[in-house]
Amino acid sequence: MPLTAPDPIAVIGAGPAGTMCARRLHEAGLPVQIFDKGRGIGGRTSVRRHEALRFDHGAPFFTVRHPAIRERLEAWIEMGAVAEWIAKIAWVKDNDTRPARPGPRYVGVPGMNALATHLAEGLTIQTGVRVQTLARGQEGWRFRDANEREYGPFSTVVLTMPAPQAVPLLASAPRLKAKVREIEMLPCIATMLAFDDTLAPNYDAAFFANGSLSWAARNSSKPGRPSAEAWVLHAAPDWSREHSLLPREEIADRLLADSKAQLRPICGEFPKPSFQRSHVWALARAREPLEEGYLFDAELALGVAGDWCCGNRVEGGLLSGLSVAEGLLNETSRMD
Ligand SMILES: Cc1cc2nc3c(=O)[nH]c(=O)nc-3n(C[C@H](O)[C@H](O)[C@H](O)COP(=O)(O)OP(=O)(O)OC[C@H]3O[C@@H](n4cnc5c(N)ncnc54)[C@H](O)[C@@H]3O)c2cc1C
Repeated sequence: MPLTAPDPIAVIGAGPAGTMCARRLHEAGLPVQIFDKGRGIGGRTSVRRHEALRFDHGAPFFTVRHPAIRERLEAWIEMGAVAEWIAKIAWVKDNDTRPARPGPRYVGVPGMNALATHLAEGLTIQTGVRVQTLARGQEGWRFRDANEREYGPFSTVVLTMPAPQAVPLLASAPRLKAKVREIEMLPCIATMLAFDDTLAPNYDAAFFANGSLSWAARNSSKPGRPSAEAWVLHAAPDWSREHSLLPREEIADRLLADSKAQLRPICGEFPKPSFQRSHVWALARAREPLEEGYLFDAELALGVAGDWCCGNRVEGGLLSGLSVAEGLLNETSRMD
């Protein structure tokens, strides 16, 4: 038994990658602390609230293919954090509308962030901490947040934010920095809509192969959501780039006007929304994700993970977080 407790591992970012990584390290008995700049956790799976309305304005659902994630899925479903979304989903290209490939597709319950919340349950987590500088001294890693507060020492740090947000924190790790800065991330504008009356759409959701929209979904068709008629539209990357500097309050009207024809086979003509709001995700997904799973510098005890290391998507984030934790555990056992 050591006389002093070992320094904890800091996981920066509480999206799917960070919470999965921290959960695995905690399961292995290592002390771990999570930090996130957001008010809540979940990252790009977070939920936007307005009065009684709830919108999954980032990732609308996730799929599970890898055995390591499939192994855990059953328990998440049993705990009620995740459920299958059984929905009528269309695939639309020009004038061709057909049923999309069948699922299964999964959602967090009652919102997409429920999975990250479940993974972080019982762990030490601090939100509202935007890590701004990261440095390694003789005692290990320390960092400062945007309010100049200092945290540490930590034995190891794992960064799990979108690649461009990790770059400024990698000054002490030029080899990792060079790799991370290669990743370009594309924007996505999400527009949230609510209606006073219940609609009778032909589909609950649709993927669009071309045009202004890439995705539309009736949020209220997912399990565990409020019944109020609520929709989320995702603009295609080009449309998002061209319109992201418009005043926020103009974006929804413009997107609705530009996507009228695309939406017609899904839900006919939308009536006037009782609520509309847009959110610009500047870093929604990597143009070309790495396929390395994660990056780790054993000498520096510094790891980098996130969906952009592992094929984009929620499952990629989970897998990247799990893999960096396994890599770190292997390294720890090698040194014992
Ligand atoms: C519009 C949109 C649609 C999507 N559609 C799908 C889909 O259909 N299916 C699917 O599977 N996935 C989808 N995704 C992708 C999915 O959301 C991501 O793959 C997943 O969230 C990645 O998890 P992550 O933990 O790697 O990163 P994130 O979820 O981005 O989490 C990173 C965390 O790091 C925090 N952070 C960043 N910088 C700092 C800092 N300096 N200090 C402290 N904290 C910091 C952030 O606040 C955030 O909470 C979509 C995403 C968007 C935006």
